[in-house]
Amino acid sequence: MARLRGLNTYLEWDRGFRGWLVAWFITAVLALIAQAVNLLRTGRTGAVWWSAVGAKAWVFKAVLVVDAVWGVGVFVALVYGITLFLREDRATPQFWVRFYIVVTILGTAIYILHAYRLAVWRESSVRTVLVGWGWRGAASAFLLPLVWAVYWMRSKRVKNTYGTASPAQYAGMATLTRADLGSIHQFSGRNRNLLARSAQAGCFYCQSLFDPAEIMAWVDGRQLETGEMADGVTALCPRCGIDAVLPSAAVSLRAEMLTQMNAHWFSAQ
Ligand SMILES: [Zn+2]
Repeated sequence: MARLRGLNTYLEWDRGFRGWLVAWFITAVLALIAQAVNLLRTGRTGAVWWSAVGAKAWVFKAVLVVDAVWGVGVFVALVYGITLFLREDRATPQFWVRFYIVVTILGTAIYILHAYRLAVWRESSVRTVLVGWGWRGAASAFLLPLVWAVYWMRSKRVKNTYGTASPAQYAGMATLTRADLGSIHQFSGRNRNLLARSAQAGCFYCQSLFDPAEIMAWVDGRQLETGEMADGVTALCPRCGIDAVLPSAAVSLRAEMLTQMNAHWFSAQ
């Protein structure tokens, strides 16, 4: 699955192919299928419209050409955008934000163009045709893309997956620098608040992953006065008892990262 990195899931919950991103992917694939069907339909009406004769024939031909260019354009853009997504390309969010905004604006323009075509044909006004079509369907068809544009702009999952995170947090694949190893290490101390916000915790001593709720023993902080392990602020690993627990809210808990942290901090040098 190396080539389809976009479908990867990661240990932390708010990164990778989960949640609304899955819903988005399904709508994108459905849109691609719908667009292919649309193109076939345009091809078929094209054959009829192109043979139209008479004073009004030009309207049909003009609309047909616009439809065909638009249809091919959207289809190619969808294929390109889905490819970017599957490769987990960093340009993916920017592409989809632009795509949805352009589709909304040009889609509305083409919708009105079709109303104009019908108005010329029926010798009525564009307004009458649009009112006849009803605004609810059109509004939902054009507002839905904007909802996805906002999603690609604002989603925390999108930011975590396509990168605004610091290299120290997401450098799991590369060899971590001494500075990275040091900054990641900081999260293993006084980490109670971060662990409370984490979906997962990982120990770089025994390399295990577990639910932060499993952590029962804490040291430092008030524990130094009371001696009660429930009062501390630094987690001890529920598996091995070492204070080498990292919170997923702060660090991407990749296996490669835990291995490198272990080698740096625990192996005899
Ligand atoms: Zn451990």
